[in-house]
Amino acid sequence: MSKEMKRFELTLIDNEQVGVDYFIFNFEMPKNLIFKEGQYGAFKHVDKEIEGRKVRAFTFASTNNEDVLKIATVINDSPSDFKAKMLDLKKGDTMTVDGPLGGFTLDEDKNAIFFAAGIGITAARGMVKYLEEFDNGKENILIHAEHREFYCFKEDFKDFNNVLVKYENTGANMKDTAANMARKYKNDSVYYVSGNPGFVTAVTTIIQGQGVDPKQIKFEKFTGY
Ligand SMILES: Cc1cc2nc3c(=O)[nH]c(=O)nc-3n(C[C@H](O)[C@H](O)[C@H](O)COP(=O)(O)OP(=O)(O)OC[C@H]3O[C@@H](n4cnc5c(N)ncnc54)[C@H](O)[C@@H]3O)c2cc1C
Repeated sequence: MSKEMKRFELTLIDNEQVGVDYFIFNFEMPKNLIFKEGQYGAFKHVDKEIEGRKVRAFTFASTNNEDVLKIATVINDSPSDFKAKMLDLKKGDTMTVDGPLGGFTLDEDKNAIFFAAGIGITAARGMVKYLEEFDNGKENILIHAEHREFYCFKEDFKDFNNVLVKYENTGANMKDTAANMARKYKNDSVYYVSGNPGFVTAVTTIIQGQGVDPKQIKFEKFTGY
């Protein structure tokens, strides 16, 4: 483990289902867990035999000053043993997390445009919530794509004033929106792209195709799906 990375015990408060297969897990925020919005951790079960991989990366979907640590994931009808055992967790049960990890974090003094696909919204939620709470006077836009229209965390964004939130339900619309945004903002914005690797590659290619410098683009690929 690096110097900054530590292990924390997480105590479950509850979980919420969104649509058919998204689950948000709410844990008590550990007192000493200091992270930047958008970072992630390496989660493990405690005292359980797990078939297959014993660790999963999940992004901290909260802001650093919330008192609940939120993560969200997809759990379908034939889940991995790791995720099946997450669903078995009851209030008061624990997991551990090593972290924080990663550099998918906010450049605070620049316009910000977020493109999130499906569960990729976990990596954007903390940053857009931070921007809503600490108005930086910049243009901030979140575009969330989900083809079944199950938009995780939609409730959290509904009264936002400082971040414009848009929803897309097809890949084609998302591609058009990405091209339009990049054409309009060029290098006057940072672009944050998160979700499955195919989505991230497609959207970053479109943005660069409009002449945006790759240095203006940050991305988080959720490998493992
Ligand atoms: C930086 C980062 C942040 C992430 N944040 C989130 C998050 O917030 N929410 C979320 O739901 N998921 C997130 N993920 C993905 C997450 O860690 C899991 O990999 C994912 O949820 C699938 O887990 P599973 O138990 O359903 O699938 P598994 O049963 O573990 O695997 C599904 C399939 O993927 C293959 N696979 C497993 N691991 C890898 C790998 N590393 N590379 C390529 N193929 C692999 C397996 O062979 C299998 O075919 C993140 C991943 C990364 C790298």
